[in-house]
Amino acid sequence: MDSSTDYEALAALAELDGRKRNLDALAASLPEQTDERERQLVAHREECEALERRAEEGQRERRRLEAAVEDKTQQLNKYREQLDVVKTNKEYQSLLHEIEITKRAVSETEDKLLELLDSLERSQQDLAVRGRELETAETDFARANDDDRRRLEEVEVELLEVEAKRRRWFEKLSPPARGEYERLNEHYPGEAFTYAADGVCQGCFVNIPAKVVAELRAGGCVYRCESCGRLLLRVVEEHE
Ligand SMILES: [Zn+2]
Repeated sequence: MDSSTDYEALAALAELDGRKRNLDALAASLPEQTDERERQLVAHREECEALERRAEEGQRERRRLEAAVEDKTQQLNKYREQLDVVKTNKEYQSLLHEIEITKRAVSETEDKLLELLDSLERSQQDLAVRGRELETAETDFARANDDDRRRLEEVEVELLEVEAKRRRWFEKLSPPARGEYERLNEHYPGEAFTYAADGVCQGCFVNIPAKVVAELRAGGCVYRCESCGRLLLRVVEEHE
C-alpha cells in the first residue's frame, strides 16, 4: 500500500476516477440540455402560432367592422334620400334624429377600426420578428443537437478509454491496495479518492492533522482519512 508502485497506480486511478466522474456527468447532462432546448423551441412555436391566431382573429374583426361601416353608411344615405320625400315635420325630425345616431355609430365604428388596424400592424410586426427568430432557432436547434450527439459519442469513447486505463492501473496495484480500492468503491461509488483543502478532508469535512497535510503537500504519500476512510493524495490550495 505504501510502495511507490501503489502510489503511482493510486495517483493514476484518482485522476482517472475524477475524469470518469466528469464524463459521466457530461453524458447525463447532454440529453437534459437537448430536452430543455426542445422545450424552449416548442414554447417559441406555440407563441408564434398564438400570434398567428390572434392576427387571424384581428382580420376577421377588421372585416366585420368594415362591413358594419359600409352598412351604416348605406343606411345613412337612405335616410338622407328620405329627407327629400317625407311629408310631415315630425317625420323629418325623427329622420334627423336617426341620421344623428347613425352618424355617431359610423364614427365610433371607424374609431374602433383604426385602433384595430394599429394593433394589427403591431402584431404583424411582432409575428414577423418572432417568426424570423423561430427560423433561426430551428436551425440552431438542429445544429446544437447534432453537436451534442457528436459530443456524446466522443464522451462515450473517452469513457471506454478511461475505463481501459483504470483496469490497467488497477491490475498494477498490490493485492492489499486492490482490496482497499475495491471496498472503497463499493462504499463510495466512483469516489474512493478525495483531497485535502483548508485542512479538512473534502469527502467528510473532518480535520486532517497539520503534519499529514504537510506530507500530502510534499507529495508521494497516501493518507487514509480516519473519519470517512477515503484516500487522499493531494492538497488543493485555495487559489487553485
Ligand atoms: Zn474524510
